[in-house]
Amino acid sequence: MLLPGSTLGVLGGGQLGRMFCMAARNMGYKTVVLEPDPRCPAAEVADQHIQADYTDSEALGCLAEQCDAITTEFENVPAESLEFLSSRRPVHPSADAVAIARHRIQEKDFASQAGLSPAPYARIRGPQDMEAALKVTGFPAIIKTTTLGYDGKGQQVVNNLAELQAAFDGLHGVECVLEQKMPLALEISVLLARNSRGEVACYPPAENEHRNGILHQSIVPARVDGALAERACSQAIGLANALDYVGVMAVEFFITTDNQLIFNEMAPRPHNSGHYTQDAALVSQFEQQVRVMCGLAPGEARLLEPVVMVNLLGDLWPVDWSLCLRNPALKLHLYGKQEARPGRKMGHFNLLAENIDTAIQQADQVFAELAPGEI
Ligand code: ADP
Ligand code: MG
Repeated sequence: MLLPGSTLGVLGGGQLGRMFCMAARNMGYKTVVLEPDPRCPAAEVADQHIQADYTDSEALGCLAEQCDAITTEFENVPAESLEFLSSRRPVHPSADAVAIARHRIQEKDFASQAGLSPAPYARIRGPQDMEAALKVTGFPAIIKTTTLGYDGKGQQVVNNLAELQAAFDGLHGVECVLEQKMPLALEISVLLARNSRGEVACYPPAENEHRNGILHQSIVPARVDGALAERACSQAIGLANALDYVGVMAVEFFITTDNQLIFNEMAPRPHNSGHYTQDAALVSQFEQQVRVMCGLAPGEARLLEPVVMVNLLGDLWPVDWSLCLRNPALKLHLYGKQEARPGRKMGHFNLLAENIDTAIQQADQVFAELAPGEI
């Protein structure tokens, strides 16, 4: 068990690394971040910033030497780096779990074996695979790169063979997965924390609204039938158990118009849709990350009040913050990024209220003031 006073390392210095460091510091841990960007969000709040590439073996050695345990803020760290680190120090989540979550086909294969239900899918490595894949998915379908996609990047909806061929070429011929495009009623995500003794804390599902492929807001608790919410949680826990997962994990599900629960993807780390836990849950997802990587019991995943989390993208900049802060139930989080670009996640706010309808209405109102004409 690693107690306060220990030093925790994180690969990646974006907003997730930053919020992890803030939680760790609050709890009395020291933090070291490894990240190439000298002005990354986490550098401001970590005790130490090793400015180097994720594959730099000298830097990795230095991180291992200084830290008692190591985690990652994103799934695209090279597997060899995680393996190198785990030969020296405890690394959570494990390189194996991260490798599965990074690869859409391995992820869906694994989830299916664990009893979850992905949308019908098939691998496409070249034009020769298209006919067989279409027998599985039909049209409309979505083609996605198997790795490195995020925020709707690296994927496209296709309605016929010509579109599929053009989309595959447009993705530069890399390995892809073709999925049936499901008729969505709702998207939800289940966030959980699990330690090496298999103790799990699972938050109630969040209801997620995306705009232009990027999460716009999460509404918690999700407005879904209680039995369905429970099923989503038990499937997410089943997946974590099957992976023998140690860390914080988010599992995204679709709920179709005919009320099927479809597994979409998992993130082997804290998740944007879990940012509400910073203010509206007893223990935040970043505190959970600290707890479980230190071998402590997960904290209680209890929602204290209904909440809406709204992402603040670079499109909104410059922002008149008084429009946000005049609402006394709004909690503002900014990531300290130097440059605001369209689509770039710059911060978020959590708006709490006694009931979810009030939280939604107030969050909409604040957002409409920040982005007139968008809502
Ligand atoms: P990312 O890694 O970019 O989050 P996702 O696979 O989660 O990629 O897809 C992004 C969004 O695209 C989803 O949140 C959902 O709105 C939509 N989408 C993805 N796959 C499907 C599908 N099979 N059927 C319907 N909509 C989908
Ligand atoms: Mg997603």
